[in-house]
Amino acid sequence: MSHSDPNCLFCKIVAGQIPSKKAYEDEDILAFHDIHPWAPVHVLIIPKRHIASMADVTEAEGALLGRMTALGPRLMKELGVTNGFRHVINTGPDGGQEVYHLHLHVMGGPRPWLKG
Ligand code: 5GP
Ligand code: ZN
Repeated sequence: MSHSDPNCLFCKIVAGQIPSKKAYEDEDILAFHDIHPWAPVHVLIIPKRHIASMADVTEAEGALLGRMTALGPRLMKELGVTNGFRHVINTGPDGGQEVYHLHLHVMGGPRPWLKG
């Protein structure tokens, strides 16, 4: 069940080989703060299992993606975001994806933001 790619940056974060500032963790999901935040609060929510991108997602991942998506508002609230937030998933070269381990950006906090 728990597949990991030894060359993948976010699999290394899941394994604890690269440190991260964690915001949430359970059996299937990890959330941590982005190292170069685009907004005052910027977390990345990832499946622990290696899924390269949204291009690899099927209906079988529906429940997992649902849980990741719903975690966003909960974390924003916990992190003090009160005035709205943004969910973003970049997919593939033209989608601006840099790390090929599926991740949901959730950003909030007062503007201006670096991106968006
Ligand atoms: P993408 O462009 O693939 O959607 O976003 C990748 C994100 O991962 C970027 O916002 C980038 O700042 C973040 N990132 C890249 N390397 C690391 C790292 O080692 N630690 C953390 N916490 N974030 C990272
Ligand atoms: Zn990975």
